[in-house]
Amino acid sequence: MHEWALAEAVVESVIEVARKEKFTSVKEISISLGELQDIEVEIFEFALKNLIGKSDLLKNAEIKLRIEETLLKCRACGKEWSLKETKNIDEDVREAIHFLPELSHSFIRCPYCGSMDFEIVKGRGVSVDSISGEKDGSEN
Ligand code: ZN
Repeated sequence: MHEWALAEAVVESVIEVARKEKFTSVKEISISLGELQDIEVEIFEFALKNLIGKSDLLKNAEIKLRIEETLLKCRACGKEWSLKETKNIDEDVREAIHFLPELSHSFIRCPYCGSMDFEIVKGRGVSVDSISGEKDGSEN
């Protein structure tokens, strides 16, 4: 149900923005999804489609999901790198990290200095990048 709660929060914020910007019909919603967000993308997408279908404002909108790559930053040497560049981890571990980002600290080292002390700069969380559609004629 995690995916549904998240989708609900996204749809609510899209409706809020759409109302504020006086959209009469939203045609496209671009959403970024962190690579390390522990959700099932298919369920999330299904939930989104289901929820926007219940809103007159959003029911014609197309959802564009973008997976945001993980960006890690070493606290020891200050260098940044992406999870893709971390080649010394196998697929099983990658999968485990995907669902339990906390685990990453046990498997990933800074490729530059070998430190295990790093932070996750990007790749967690969900954000609405943009929405587009039709607005009423009152704008200039
Ligand atoms: Zn480092």
